[in-house]
Amino acid sequence: MPTMRCVVVREHGGLDRLCLEERPIPNPAPGEVRLRMQAVGINHLDTWVRRGVPGHTFPLPLVTSSDGCGVVDQLGPGVTGLREGDPVVVLPGRSCGACEACQTGQDQLCRHYQILGEGTDGTAAEFVCLPTANVAPKPRALTAPEAASVCLVFQTAWHMLVRRAELRAGETVLVHAGLSGVGSAAVQIANLLGAQVIATAGGPEKCARVQALGAHHVIDSRQQDFVAEVRARTGKQGVQVVFEHTGAATFEGSLKVLQRGGRLVTCGATTGGAVQLSLHAVFFKSLSILGSTMGSKGDLRALLRLFDQGRLRPVLDRVLPLAQAGEAHRLLEAREALGKVVLAV
Ligand SMILES: [Zn+2]
Repeated sequence: MPTMRCVVVREHGGLDRLCLEERPIPNPAPGEVRLRMQAVGINHLDTWVRRGVPGHTFPLPLVTSSDGCGVVDQLGPGVTGLREGDPVVVLPGRSCGACEACQTGQDQLCRHYQILGEGTDGTAAEFVCLPTANVAPKPRALTAPEAASVCLVFQTAWHMLVRRAELRAGETVLVHAGLSGVGSAAVQIANLLGAQVIATAGGPEKCARVQALGAHHVIDSRQQDFVAEVRARTGKQGVQVVFEHTGAATFEGSLKVLQRGGRLVTCGATTGGAVQLSLHAVFFKSLSILGSTMGSKGDLRALLRLFDQGRLRPVLDRVLPLAQAGEAHRLLEAREALGKVVLAV
């Protein structure tokens, strides 16, 4: 039986828990296609799956990773609209397709929603079988590693800013960690929407890159207090929207810099998920705190066009071989990456 390599987590723990395994090459079920993967994008989510999250059970063993780019290699029974050889990207959320949430374009709220590499086997393999709902044409303007780096983070940032916070032209948004995966997507999307963008980044090199992505003001979070800086740069007004994904280290300050009627939208807690919250501030200032996870596949298909139109661009740091998944995790956890890290298959 022909086999393939894949990256598997069998037990939670350190970088050595990422195992490169041989498995039989899967065959596509009815309604599925098999992809020959070319590139696999690494996200912070991959590192959480490896380390484990207190109070959350992952269905181990799991093939890791949510993002990927490849070529359609075989069609399962009944598949139409795709051909062998088509270059495609992976849409990282699986859902039932039959419930009210799915059918109103909110498939990320489906009770059966699973993120690839988190709730079900992911993309870090030489071959992957997926429902046709989970593949979309690769943007022609992007290389395979670039295309593998965009879906999860741009989908997340788009849903947060467009659907949840409803950021509008002329408003000011604070984006934390503007060179991180979701941060670099948020800076670009906010700019595209016509908002004024204040972003933070750690150190002069990251700050310069965030400026180049379109941020109007960049705060060096290693040198400067972002609360004081945002107040200074907005004439003490504060911002209408804060884009949160860092959590404990920034949350209290994020609430402080919001104007009356402001919206905080959060998709993550990379520095910890337990925060102090003053209800007085929330009601006196009429604040909205909005949670957000992933986004709809329809929105993702639409936003992929913006890469072909040159209005959004991938922020790729480096490409490593599949066998170096551990090094990719280390770069993310140490915050050493200046953009996305991708594995070449
Ligand atoms: Zn559903």
